[in-house]
Amino acid sequence: MFLKRIEIQGFKSFADKTILQFDQNITGIVGPNGCGKSNVNDAIRWVLGEQSTKSLRSGSSMSDIIFSGSEYRKPVNMAKVTLVFDNSLHIFDSPYEEIEITRQLQRSTNEASYFINKEPCRLKDINDLVMDTGLGRDSLSIITQGNISAFADAKPEDRRLLFEEAAGVAKYKKRKKVSLQK
Ligand code: ATP
Ligand code: MG
Repeated sequence: MFLKRIEIQGFKSFADKTILQFDQNITGIVGPNGCGKSNVNDAIRWVLGEQSTKSLRSGSSMSDIIFSGSEYRKPVNMAKVTLVFDNSLHIFDSPYEEIEITRQLQRSTNEASYFINKEPCRLKDINDLVMDTGLGRDSLSIITQGNISAFADAKPEDRRLLFEEAAGVAKYKKRKKVSLQK
């Protein structure tokens, strides 16, 4: 399983639709300060369900992630990001060879929509889909600069949570918690 493509439109500095294609090798994104490298990382985490605007390095309202205009460009009304994953090994629990996950946000209503393979879904469906693949929001799939020292300094119980996510038991623990609340 690997990320094949990202389509970013209206998210942070990406005013126009931008498509980044990846293959199975290592890809480095380089560019001058402020050109939008970290915004690509934010876009990926946003689609995978990130709800913390602070963690997305944005303003207090989620609509602050929508392109807010520049010297030469007017603001846009919508942000839409799609991630396309290769699923030929069926790491995602789905019969499809490709998994396309989309998150969209309208400025006027501050309303989010989510799609899996173009079908509207809930955020929970995306969370469930990614949880056991190692792509979950708090997983090891995205390691920021601060993560490395935090992981090394973590209490054993906290470090264990990451192993549980990687081992695929996190989903069952979460379901158990939800069913016990009912
Ligand atoms: P560095 O090398 O310093 O880490 P970077 O390439 O990672 O830089 P980013 O942090 O990805 O840069 O991008 C910062 C740019 O994104 C800034 O110019 C900022 O104005 C722009 N930006 C962030 N949010 C928005 C938004 N909502 N609308 C328009 N531009 C935005
Ligand atoms: Mg950066």
